[in-house]
Amino acid sequence: MVLSAAASLAPAQIRPAAGAPKYVFFFLADGAGPAHLEITRQYSRQIHNEGFTIVDKIMKEGSVGVMTTDAADSLSTDSAAAATALAGGCKANIGALGVCADGTPALSAMELARRRGMRLGLVTNAVVYDASPAAFVCHVANRRDYAAIVNRYLELEPYVLMGGGKDQFLPKSQSGSRRTDETDMVAAFEKKGYRYSSNKPDLERAAGGKTLGLFSLRDMSFELDRDKHNEPSVYDMTRAAIKLLHDRNPGGFFAFIESENIDSAGHLSDIASVIQDYREFDRAVGLAYEFYRKYPRDTLIIVTSDHETGGLGFTLALRDLTSTKGDNQVAGTGADLKKIQSIGISLRKASQILGRNPTPEAVDKLMKDHFPGFTLAPEYKEAIVKRQPISRTLFTDSTTQALGMMVANNTQAYWQTSAHTNQPVLVAALGVGADRFRGYYDNADFGKKLKALIEGKTQR
Ligand SMILES: [Zn+2]
Repeated sequence: MVLSAAASLAPAQIRPAAGAPKYVFFFLADGAGPAHLEITRQYSRQIHNEGFTIVDKIMKEGSVGVMTTDAADSLSTDSAAAATALAGGCKANIGALGVCADGTPALSAMELARRRGMRLGLVTNAVVYDASPAAFVCHVANRRDYAAIVNRYLELEPYVLMGGGKDQFLPKSQSGSRRTDETDMVAAFEKKGYRYSSNKPDLERAAGGKTLGLFSLRDMSFELDRDKHNEPSVYDMTRAAIKLLHDRNPGGFFAFIESENIDSAGHLSDIASVIQDYREFDRAVGLAYEFYRKYPRDTLIIVTSDHETGGLGFTLALRDLTSTKGDNQVAGTGADLKKIQSIGISLRKASQILGRNPTPEAVDKLMKDHFPGFTLAPEYKEAIVKRQPISRTLFTDSTTQALGMMVANNTQAYWQTSAHTNQPVLVAALGVGADRFRGYYDNADFGKKLKALIEGKTQR
């Protein structure tokens, strides 16, 4: 069910409001709490001697806030309720997209930007109809109403729409389709003047005009598994999006750019993927920072998260279970970051390699091929072969959970759960209106601040 569209589609005036940013970048590191950010920053510094744009540029030159993440009906949120709060400024129930807890559709900051004639960009490495991008422009009571979300995109005509999720655009009879009808949504977008792109070389050729980019049937690849020649990363998509959104555009733009892979890696207790995907996301933020340096008086960059996933952190652990004394304790160090660097595939891929009935020999081969120098405790090997969950904080498969625990035991980067937690997240803001995002506030109040800013209203 689609609730009546909250925003009129026709732009009311073709310019940003006075005092409002002309160019808005909203970067969402899905599932990234302060620990994800800090571990990646430490890794970049210690392993590559590189800075971290979000911290070293956006936070240092701009402002930092702390934001609560709870949903209306739960202490730990999902991405739908969280994105509804961030985009629409109201508390929402788990699963609701752009609909407040009282049932009213939440007019979003992006819809307000659209009314002002600003171009919209939605970029994600999730499926494009996933909760976070969808909540920024859609109003549906159930986040799994994918057809309604794709229809809303077609109606709204964002200037740039990029990510995974081709399965909801192909007609039912085509292989890979998950649609329930024969509508060809790619053709429907092309009919509205969109250029369609399905791989990285083609995206790099895009010079201007409305663009639909669908680069995989479902979620896009983790950085560790990505085909670097054919599949664009969040950085590649951001670079293309900035070019397209900025091209011959007096009206400005609002770009939503998300890395869903950070959240997905958290669900899989995959520290190596968290780090590699966060680094790629940070490079994308770097592109916006370069843009800001050219247009400092017109640009706002916000970098934040919707919630924390996994309860992550480096910690003390015991070498074995013989004693709790200090000499049997180990703490995370730079050597552990080096071990993480040696991991060459995601845990999702590792689990796929082992398949449904992993033999002890297949597990040994996987360890030798992809986790050199890592030790797999006998109880985890048994859990994989017998397909038994190790603990009740498991929301993925038993193989991934055991491998995640194996990596934790070898690196001291531990996870509390494979689901979302109630931790607050950081908000980094730089440019026009960035001062408004200082302090400690609720995620719905963040949405109110952002909407007021787009409308050129002074802060309440
Ligand atoms: Zn999640």
